[in-house]
Amino acid sequence: MSVALVPSQTFLHEVQSHSGQPISLCYQCKKCSAGCPVGFAMDLLPHEVIRLIQLGARDRVFAANNLWVCTGCKTCQARCPNQIDAGQVMDSLREMALRAGTAALAPKGRDVNVKTFHESFLSTLRLFGRSYDLGMIGLYLGRSRAIGEHMGLGLNMVKKGKLKYLPERVHRMGEIRKIFAKAREKR
Ligand code: SF4
Ligand code: SF4
Repeated sequence: MSVALVPSQTFLHEVQSHSGQPISLCYQCKKCSAGCPVGFAMDLLPHEVIRLIQLGARDRVFAANNLWVCTGCKTCQARCPNQIDAGQVMDSLREMALRAGTAALAPKGRDVNVKTFHESFLSTLRLFGRSYDLGMIGLYLGRSRAIGEHMGLGLNMVKKGKLKYLPERVHRMGEIRKIFAKAREKR
C-alpha cells in the first residue's frame, strides 16, 4: 500500500470518538483481515483501513468500498488482541460519510450505487423490521435508474425462487421505530 499523505491525528480522534473503538492501539498484526469473510471483496483489508485512519487519510478511507461491504459480523473484534471492533469502525465511517455527503455514489469501475443500495435496504428495514429483498431491489432499481442493467438478474432470481413475493413484518415494530429514532438523534 503506497499512500502519500501528511500524518494527522484529527481524523483518528473523530473516528475513535464516534465509534468508541481504541484505534490507536492497533499494531497491525492483521488478525482482523485474516478472518474477515468478505475481505476478498474489499478495496482495503480491515487492518489497512485502521492504519489509514491512524495516519489521517480521510479521503482514501471514504473512497474505499469497505464501509459498504462490511457485514458487521464481528469476526474481526473476536480475533483482535486489542478488542478493536473494525466492524463498528466501518459502521461509524458509513454514518460519517453519509453525514458529510462524501459517500461514494458509484465507486470507480463498479456499476453499483452503494449509497442508494444502503438506503434501500434501510427503507425496507424501517417498514417491516427485517429485510424484504424484492422490495429492496425494486427501490434500488427505481432510485438508481439502473432498471435496464439489472432487470435480467432480478428476473432470474425470481424464477429460481430466491426472492419472496411478500414481505414479513416483525411483531414488535415499536422497538424498531425506537432504534431508528435513536439513530436519527445520534446524527
Ligand atoms: S487484529 Fe486488531 S491489532 Fe491486529 S491489525 Fe486488526 S485491528 Fe489491529
Ligand atoms: S465486521 Fe466487517 S470488517 Fe469485521 S470481519 Fe466482519 S465483515 Fe470483516
